[in-house]
Amino acid sequence: MRLRHIPGAEEAIASSPYVIQDPELKKGAWNQVFGNSHPIEIEVGMGKGRFLMELALSHPDVNYIGIERYSSVLLKGLQKRARLELANIFFLCIDARDMADIFAPGEVSRIYLNFSDPWPKDRHAKRRLTSPAFLSVYEKILSDQGQIEFKTDNQDLFAYSLESIPSAGWTITEYTRDLHNSPMVLGNVMTEYETKFSSLGKPICKLIARPGR
Ligand code: SAM
Repeated sequence: MRLRHIPGAEEAIASSPYVIQDPELKKGAWNQVFGNSHPIEIEVGMGKGRFLMELALSHPDVNYIGIERYSSVLLKGLQKRARLELANIFFLCIDARDMADIFAPGEVSRIYLNFSDPWPKDRHAKRRLTSPAFLSVYEKILSDQGQIEFKTDNQDLFAYSLESIPSAGWTITEYTRDLHNSPMVLGNVMTEYETKFSSLGKPICKLIARPGR
């Protein structure tokens, strides 16, 4: 994603009612933030948040949290959020590697990783959102039946993930290298990047995985 510094982005995020400030203070108490005990689903690297807001509109019985580390990107999501009537979605401007400080064990039902940055150089492998370091963070906060759902157009990142996930002791329960021509497409919600890459004719890969064997 091309990043531009947007003057005032940090200030807008710090004063937004849609962004949880000091999220570490909510650890173990996210149900109180939403005012109900519905399951919590997170998108890591939500970008402008189209995917998660569409899910929030169609599933009022699920609570959603969008995580995006860049304020300039999150700001665009906030502008869209302000135009929608939604009670079941909040955002965090944090690095996902800190998620275990913010969510208690078992507090999260599902984590979506959509079109994560591929970090192609070996020396940057630890930054990939399907690397062992990130998987161990997800494992700490997912509930017993918790899952990750990962979509990408990047064949190398997908091949890496098909190895890194089982090596970390997880089970891949389903996967496809051509989502839009697979039964896994049922109920699929397109992300911004998915729309862009599939319009270029690139097949979309998807996998679902859970911690444990
Ligand atoms: N998920 C969106 C989509 O599919 O359209 C956006 C994809 S964009 C390529 C990836 C986003 O993930 C970027 O906005 C980036 O800033 C964010 N991101 C990458 N690593 C992250 C991390 N460790 N913590 C939080 N956000 C991250």
